Amino acid sequence: MSPTDVPSPAPSPAASAHAGTGENPAPVAVKDLRLNSPVTDLVGVGPGRARLLARLEIHTVSDLLRHLPARYQWESAEGEIKDIVFETIASARGTVMVTRWVAMGRGKGRYQATLQDATGRLDLVWFNAAYLRDKIHPGMVIRVQGKAKPFNGYPQMSNPKWEPLENLDAAARQERYRPIYPATEDLPSARIEEMIATALPHVAAQLIDPLPADFLAEHVMPPLADAFRMAHRPEHEEEAAAARRRLAFNELLLLQLGIAIKKHHARTQLAAPALRWSEAIDAHIRQRFPFKLTPQQELAVGQIVEDIRQGKPMNRLLQGDVGSGKTVVALYAVLLAVANRKQGAIMVPTELLAEQHFASISAMLAGSNVRIALLTGGRLDAAERQALEADIESGKVDIVVGTQALLTESVRFNDLALVVVDEQHRFGVMQRAAFRQRDVGEGAGEKSVPPADGRIRSPHCLVMTATPIPRTLSLTIFGDLDISTITGLPPGRTPITTRVVGADKADEVYRYLAGRVAKGEQAYVVVPAIDEAGKESLKQLKNVRAHAELLQDKYGAGLRVAAVHGQLERSKREEIMQAFRASEVHILVATTVIEVGVDVPNASLMVVEHAERFGLAQLHQLRGRIGRGANGRKSLCVFVAEPVTEEAIRRMAAIGGTTDGFKIAEEDLSIRGMGDFFGTRQHGLPPLRVARIPKDIPLLQLARRDAHAIVEADAGLVGDRWRLLRKVLIQQYGDTLGLIDVG
Ligand code: ADP
Ligand code: MG
Repeated sequence: MSPTDVPSPAPSPAASAHAGTGENPAPVAVKDLRLNSPVTDLVGVGPGRARLLARLEIHTVSDLLRHLPARYQWESAEGEIKDIVFETIASARGTVMVTRWVAMGRGKGRYQATLQDATGRLDLVWFNAAYLRDKIHPGMVIRVQGKAKPFNGYPQMSNPKWEPLENLDAAARQERYRPIYPATEDLPSARIEEMIATALPHVAAQLIDPLPADFLAEHVMPPLADAFRMAHRPEHEEEAAAARRRLAFNELLLLQLGIAIKKHHARTQLAAPALRWSEAIDAHIRQRFPFKLTPQQELAVGQIVEDIRQGKPMNRLLQGDVGSGKTVVALYAVLLAVANRKQGAIMVPTELLAEQHFASISAMLAGSNVRIALLTGGRLDAAERQALEADIESGKVDIVVGTQALLTESVRFNDLALVVVDEQHRFGVMQRAAFRQRDVGEGAGEKSVPPADGRIRSPHCLVMTATPIPRTLSLTIFGDLDISTITGLPPGRTPITTRVVGADKADEVYRYLAGRVAKGEQAYVVVPAIDEAGKESLKQLKNVRAHAELLQDKYGAGLRVAAVHGQLERSKREEIMQAFRASEVHILVATTVIEVGVDVPNASLMVVEHAERFGLAQLHQLRGRIGRGANGRKSLCVFVAEPVTEEAIRRMAAIGGTTDGFKIAEEDLSIRGMGDFFGTRQHGLPPLRVARIPKDIPLLQLARRDAHAIVEADAGLVGDRWRLLRKVLIQQYGDTLGLIDVG
């Protein structure tokens, strides 16, 4: 949510001259305060206070206004001590007379104070709050709030809320609905509240509402300036709720407009090659596959073929659980491009995965005349790389498998018709866009002619993810994608038994594992660290090197244990993976480099150490490495975990409770909230500060409907009605939406 910032003159010297050290608790605003004025323009906010604000990411007045209350509470009006009613929340002020720390052993204790006003004495006690010894001293004037009970002849409050007052005459408190801000120990909510209360009236008129008045009236929403006032200084619950709704809606509308405009742009401005499909081509492609496609895979193939026969770029997400068989679906699409004498690219997040895809696709294409190449960051020397790039540019290569190295400037395609992005959750929307934006077919031996109608050439794009998108989110972040879903697993996949155990069971687990491995199965053991180096906090963790040695010594008689991790030289890593694939290595100790895509069907056992340290999606990915059923044995995954936080406990319960990736994704979303789930920032989308998904889904749907209506009526937002909205969108997204800034 971003109020339209109007440029302001440089801060006046007079203002900074007044600025105190941060000690002065009652800031005053200067006359020409602007939304983008630094907070130090508030008199009373000096460098010290500014540093404290900076820790909350508040630098300007606008940031300050966007620092919204985390919650609110009704505060009772202040009364005299003699009028305190027992067992109800009361508020009083007085002078601290006596304080005392009563130790109760092992650092615990209680802090007692006596408060006196003109009418009587109130006793205060805080349990296990040793830090208060440095905070509350005799002679101070403080205000307290809490429930009082009679104790030793005086009213006593246990663990009351308190705040220091300047003096006994400081303004008395009325009953009110008070905002509670995210705060720090040195900068409590009350100080933030004061600063906002001071600044708000001076800048309220500058909060320009991007939405027209009749639109707001129809939505029963307050104008932006009112919404900020009601969020920060609400008179009652309803005002706070109305403010939240308006501010959340703003965010969601901007998000949905971004998506709708992008989608509109793709539909109207981009052209992609219409690929030819025939039964002969279809049969030709299928003869390459070693198995029959499942009905789910057939469905996805059908949707993709339908898309890429059109002259506009496909933008489709193929989602399906780990091991659900997405690769072959993508390969079908790539081969269709090749059958049309065009190129296809497959981009994956790690070198290991690129190498593996390259190997398995090469195997399927053995004996055909399709030319396939592998392009990753580290694998080629300069000359080899140049030669490969020349082949891609001249069209000698049909299919390129690679990492993000594919996105490098120097990689130019002859005629790229289709890009497959595997494991989408590792890439951002922006990387996806990077492919879409570039003019493909720019190579020297150019075959395809640019579209005559002036549209920009773009390849078809298929993104694949094994982190299923909860339906609620597919509307938001992935709203510009069409979605195909593969549910269920291909034949041959075996169900996985999952156990979550404590570290004390590890020995038992490894002995059982070694027994099964001795009979011909293979196992992965995943640990979080590579070696002992690194942060002190990581030293307690099992690391690949030491753990591999330990397993070899203690359980590995007659077995071969090997280790892989990201820092290993590529040739060495390939050698070990090859040995593991060939069953020459029996137990593979690894970091999460094996998380995505690694496919060794005979590996049916997995142990994950320190599982509480991994995210839910990651654990699910890891577990997906097994259950590939080649040896006919029942796969077993053991998570060794010592969860302490509530979040970690929930994660362990979820991973132990289901193997359904969709359920896990929903649970992950509910544990982490949407912000962290996909990291919207990384995806290049505006972060949601106010709106909460899934709670605000109805509001999201409203915003989505509005966004479509707006784009339908005026896609460039060039009309007067949406002039301000366009301005805010440009501020938010820069020029990625293709909106022109006409001032
Ligand atoms: P993911 O969706 O995780 O990328 P993969 O494409 O790697 O899954 O497929 C997982 C495994 O299932 C692979 O070994 C693949 O060969 C196998 N597989 C895929 N589709 C089928 C099918 N229709 N019949 C049998 N095996 C299949
Ligand atoms: Mg895959």
